[in-house]
Amino acid sequence: MIGARNVKPSTDGKRKTRNDMILAAVLLLVAAASFLLWHFSRAEGESVTVKVGGTETAVYPLSEDREVEIIGGEDNEYRNVVVIRDGKVSVSEANCPDGICVKTRSASRAGESIVCLPHKLVIEVTGEKSEPGLDMTA
Ligand SMILES: [Zn+2]
Repeated sequence: MIGARNVKPSTDGKRKTRNDMILAAVLLLVAAASFLLWHFSRAEGESVTVKVGGTETAVYPLSEDREVEIIGGEDNEYRNVVVIRDGKVSVSEANCPDGICVKTRSASRAGESIVCLPHKLVIEVTGEKSEPGLDMTA
């Protein structure tokens, strides 16, 4: 029971129990509705922007499955394979030393990004409703 919240004080008698239950049900419904609203209004990702060294190099729609090999570095020594599948983008392969980009969980919502620091690669999900000027990677 640790962490259980005290939803209502039990000051009223049994007479109010029914009303309390209705109230609780309504509150639950409102909470569920607002969660859904928040969930869906939180900018479904529309496209995937690939930036290398701060420069935007490619934009792909998130709705189309594809696999893209991104080659970077002075001698094309950097390699990342970006996979877009089922509306999610992830890095499936990379030859960076840390491999963090491969371990990063797939991104699907606007504002989420996958970063490969050694390769100066940023894969960013952008959406219609994303705030302009709110660029966390800048
Ligand atoms: Zn990496």
